[in-house]
Amino acid sequence: MRAFTYLTPSAPTEVVEMLDAHAPDARVIAGGQNLLLGMKDRSDSPAFLVSLGGVSELEGVRAADSGELVIGAATTYATLARMEFTGWHAEIASVCGNLADRPVRTMGTIGGAACAADPRYDIPALVTGVGASLEVLSAQGVRTIEPSDFFLEGGGTSLQPGDLLTAVRFPATEAFTTVVFEKFRQRVFDAALASTVLALRVGDGVIEDLRLTVGATTPRPTVCVTSTAGLIGQPVDAIEPVLVADAAAIEVLGPETSNDPPHLRYQRELIKSVTRRALIRATAIPRS
Ligand SMILES: Cc1cc2nc3c(=O)[nH]c(=O)nc-3n(C[C@H](O)[C@H](O)[C@H](O)COP(=O)(O)OP(=O)(O)OC[C@H]3O[C@@H](n4cnc5c(N)ncnc54)[C@H](O)[C@@H]3O)c2cc1C
Repeated sequence: MRAFTYLTPSAPTEVVEMLDAHAPDARVIAGGQNLLLGMKDRSDSPAFLVSLGGVSELEGVRAADSGELVIGAATTYATLARMEFTGWHAEIASVCGNLADRPVRTMGTIGGAACAADPRYDIPALVTGVGASLEVLSAQGVRTIEPSDFFLEGGGTSLQPGDLLTAVRFPATEAFTTVVFEKFRQRVFDAALASTVLALRVGDGVIEDLRLTVGATTPRPTVCVTSTAGLIGQPVDAIEPVLVADAAAIEVLGPETSNDPPHLRYQRELIKSVTRRALIRATAIPRS
């Protein structure tokens, strides 16, 4: 690992000043669970690490006046897993409590996972799946970015040197009746080979909103549009999990052909499986 200078700011503005002062050779370090692996294998060799460890403003959870749940970027998975959220926000705690292992959950942060933007990670899929927005501070001020502009189609994020992700803003509890996250795990790493987020709002038994997002199989999570077309306004019983899941696999990976290589056939089956599971779980949840 290349030698580096470790900087310890105490406020978000100080982080941005340090990133700017040492661009392009400075990186934010949150939990280090991703960054340090890259530094060890020398795929990344920053000369300055700007730690979020002492920036308490970036930690914790608050409700905005809009009803949004605002989670500070440096909030760890372990903290979120312990939260007693209401409504569909409980799925955020469940996702954070069920990934990786205890050491990774203790150190890893929601913001670090979003910025790492590894398609196998759960947070990019969840953020995209529920249409959360990402709040970013730079020397130019604060801006809010939608997931489709934050996660780039070819992988990575639209963050620029000097940008600090300060918070992830999740929609209010009223936005969805239920949100279900399902994934098929890699045996050794625990991250997803395929994942699905289903965000559903039902009123009087009728689907008012439905977002189906497939993660881990494309460079950024894919929001499925054609496979769920026509479902809004239908009774919730109209959802046919097998048909929707089959259509989602085609939407994400393209039509099946007899020349498909084995890994593509495998991915296709995984998408169908996790999507079916999410649909079945979501539609089975009793709602008032
Ligand atoms: C053994 C192991 C198992 C894992 N299993 C899973 C799993 O099952 N599911 C899953 O989803 N993930 C899994 N992960 C990945 C894990 O979720 C991420 O490594 C971790 O959450 C990254 O967060 P961090 O705080 O450690 O980020 P860091 O490593 O500190 O940072 C990651 C990147 O984001 C940048 N960054 C961090 N915070 C900010 C910010 N606020 N603003 C701007 N840039 C920022 C850093 O500069 C760096 O480039 C696993 C990791 C390990 C090591």
